[in-house]
Amino acid sequence: MAAVKAPPLDPIALVSRLESAGAKAGFKVEAFGSAGGCPLIALTKRTGGPRPRIYLSAGIHGDEPAPPQSLLALLEGGEFDARATWFICPLLNPEGIARGTRENASGLDLNRDYRHLESPEIRAHVRWLERHPNFDLAVCVHEDWESTGFYLYELNPAKRPSLAEPMISAVSRFFPIDPSPLIEGREAKGGIIRPVGNPLEREKWPEAIYLQAHHTNLSYTLESASALALERRIAALRAALRTAIARICA
Ligand SMILES: [Zn+2]
Repeated sequence: MAAVKAPPLDPIALVSRLESAGAKAGFKVEAFGSAGGCPLIALTKRTGGPRPRIYLSAGIHGDEPAPPQSLLALLEGGEFDARATWFICPLLNPEGIARGTRENASGLDLNRDYRHLESPEIRAHVRWLERHPNFDLAVCVHEDWESTGFYLYELNPAKRPSLAEPMISAVSRFFPIDPSPLIEGREAKGGIIRPVGNPLEREKWPEAIYLQAHHTNLSYTLESASALALERRIAALRAALRTAIARICA
């Protein structure tokens, strides 16, 4: 059932703000596809010299308005600067955003479609990803309607220095952290889920698993809590992202 939970946003207006903020911040802005008459956009900016390659995505669930707006706020705030080379897909499900639904207009959860590629959105996104190098860090930005606080998933198969605790610590200064020992059926501790087992064996792949299979050995899925006010959720996601970026660029 495609429940409408979030007030619908105009994806075309949001994309046009993202495009102009991106162009102003020196990004190359391209459309790699379209959905429901709205372009699927990617923003890229290469910085000379050895720099970490950072990939960020949002807006794959249309009932989660804070994530794309947190990327817009960081873009407008000049966060995506010369410390890194950037790859940003800020709004992957315009039809869902327009309708306020998790799924796209055909009822598909795009964040379960990275193995079988049934939707035109994810086929286009995967084609775009295939044209790009591996990432030193990938962050998929989400929020959760059932959670009482912020939490995150970490996929870190190479056991690189974790960014999870610093992100939780930054957010916890002004936003509740989900204390549950079990979140979405997975063991959690202090708002951190480190899935056990081989995620690549799952039947349906979210974006983060595709990224682990093909593009990165360090990824995070951030989840703010939709029960809190939108501005606070945006602030929590911004704080987590700023912390991860600062750590990976240090
Ligand atoms: Zn989500």
